Amino acid sequence: MTEAEALLIEQAAARLGPKGVITDPRDIEPWVTDWRGRVHGTAPAILAPASTEEVVDVVKLAAEHRVALVPQGGNTGMAAGATPPADGSALLLSMRRMNRIRSLSADNRLAIAEAGVVLATLHDAADGVGMRFPLTLGARGSCTIGGLASTNAGGTQVLKFGTMRSLVAGVEAVLPDGSIHNGLSGLKKDNRGYSIDQLLIGAEGTLGVITAVALRLVPAIAARAVAWVGVADPAAALDLLRFLEARTSSIEGFELIPQQSLDLVLKHIPDTRPPLTGAHEWNVLIEAATSDPQTDVGAELERLLAAALQSGLVSDATLAANEAQAEAFWKLRDSISEAERTEGQTIAHDISVPVGDMPTFLIDAVAEVERAFPGVQATGFGHLGDGNIHFHVRAGGHSAPDWYERDGAEITRFVDDLVTAGGGSISAEHGIGQLKRAEFARLAPPGRIHALRAIKQAFDPLGIMNPGKLVP
Ligand SMILES: Cc1cc2nc3c(=O)[nH]c(=O)nc-3n(C[C@H](O)[C@H](O)[C@H](O)COP(=O)(O)OP(=O)(O)OC[C@H]3O[C@@H](n4cnc5c(N)ncnc54)[C@H](O)[C@@H]3O)c2cc1C
Repeated sequence: MTEAEALLIEQAAARLGPKGVITDPRDIEPWVTDWRGRVHGTAPAILAPASTEEVVDVVKLAAEHRVALVPQGGNTGMAAGATPPADGSALLLSMRRMNRIRSLSADNRLAIAEAGVVLATLHDAADGVGMRFPLTLGARGSCTIGGLASTNAGGTQVLKFGTMRSLVAGVEAVLPDGSIHNGLSGLKKDNRGYSIDQLLIGAEGTLGVITAVALRLVPAIAARAVAWVGVADPAAALDLLRFLEARTSSIEGFELIPQQSLDLVLKHIPDTRPPLTGAHEWNVLIEAATSDPQTDVGAELERLLAAALQSGLVSDATLAANEAQAEAFWKLRDSISEAERTEGQTIAHDISVPVGDMPTFLIDAVAEVERAFPGVQATGFGHLGDGNIHFHVRAGGHSAPDWYERDGAEITRFVDDLVTAGGGSISAEHGIGQLKRAEFARLAPPGRIHALRAIKQAFDPLGIMNPGKLVP
C-alpha cells in the first residue's frame, strides 16, 4: 500500500465510519476477480459510501491524494470493468450501500433509484405500484442500477424498450473534481446542449460515479405468451420477426437458438425437455406481452404463428400452455452458456452487425472460423432482432487445458476482424472494460478514439476514475 493510499483510507474512515471502509483482505477478496473468473486484481481497501455527500468526500480525497478509484456495483459485468488493477494501485469504490429507492411514481412513470439498488429489487418495487421497469437480464438478482447504467446494459426486451440509454430519464453523479451533476428531474424535453446524462451512461465508471438514476416505468404486464418455433435458418427467423412486427406490437423478446446449443442444454442441464418433437436446425423463442387485461395475447400469437406456418415461414411451433412451461422455455435459452461451460472451454464474443445483415453474417462467420481453426465449433445465439449475437467458439476437438490461453486471442482477433469488416461492433452490450480494450484500440476508427480520449481528459484530467478501462 502506498503512503497516499494509507492516508486516504485513514481520512475516509474518519468520514465514512467503520461500515464505509473495508480493509480485511478476506472481505476484499470476493470482489477483486471478475464475474467470469478470468481477471484477478488486488485492492488495499474497499470504500463504501452510503450517500451522495459521502461519495463527494471520497472523490475529493482521491483527487487530493491522486489515488485511483474503481467504481463497483454487483461485479457481474462481462468485461472486467469493475476489477481493480493487479498492482494494488487503486481502491474499490463499492456502491452497494447506496441502495434506497428514493421515489416511485406511477403518475410520472418514473422511479429514482440509488446506484446500489439491485435490479430485481426495483422490479418488485415497480410491480408493487402496478408498474414495470422493462429491462431484465440473467444477473437481475445481483447487478445494480449504477452498473446497468454504466455499461448501458441491454438484455432480452431491448427489441421493444431499448437499452439503458432509452430507459434512463436522468442521472445523478459525482464528477472527478467532486462536483455533483444532478439530472434527476426527468424532464422529457431539455435541450441545454450536450447531454451529461448520456455521456455517463456507458462510461464504465471512467467519467464519474453514478449515485442515482431516474428510470422510466411502463404499465405492468397483464398477460404474456411464450412460444418455441422451429425455422429453417436465421434468414427465416428474421422474416418471421418482420411478419409478426407488421401485425402486432406485443412482441418483446425474440431469441435465436441453434439446435446444437439446444442439444447441449438438453445434455447438461437437469430437468430440461425439447419443446418440439423433431429437431430443427434453428429455433426461436418468442415472448409477447400486453398490459391490457382485455387483450388475449396468447390467442393472437397462436393465430399469427398458424399463418406463418401456412405460408412456410415456420417449420413447427408450440405455445407454452402455462407460466411453468413459459419459464421452462426461457430456462432452455438462459442455460446455453452454462451448458457450454460444462461441455468444455468456450471463447465468448458479444457482437452486433446491422440487423438485416445478421443472418448471412452468422452463417458465413461460423463457416470461416471453423475453416480457419480446424476442430473448433462455432455458434451464434441470442438477440437476433437487435442484430446482437453471442458468437461463441468452443474448443470442440481440442482437449488441451491451455487451449483458451493458447488460441483464444488469435480466434478473437479473427472474429473481431469479421465483425469490423461487416460494419459491426465488437461489443454489443457488455462494454469494453479491460478485456476488450486492446481490440478496441486496434479496430476503432481514429476519430472515435480521439473523441473518447478528449472527453476523458476534459472530465478527469488527474486520471483517478477507473484508469485502464474503456479508453485506449
Ligand atoms: C448471468 C449474467 C447475464 C447477463 N446478461 C446480460 C445481458 O443480457 N445484457 C447485458 O447487457 N449485460 C448482461 N450481463 C452483464 C451486465 O453488464 C451486468 O449484469 C450489469 O450491467 C453490470 O452491473 P453491476 O452492478 O454488476 O456492475 P459491475 O460489474 O460492478 O460494473 C460494471 C462497470 O460499471 C462500472 N460501475 C458500476 N457501478 C458504477 C457506478 N455507480 N458509477 C460509475 N460506474 C459504475 C464499473 O466500474 C464497471 O466498469 C450479464 C451478466 C451476467 C452475470
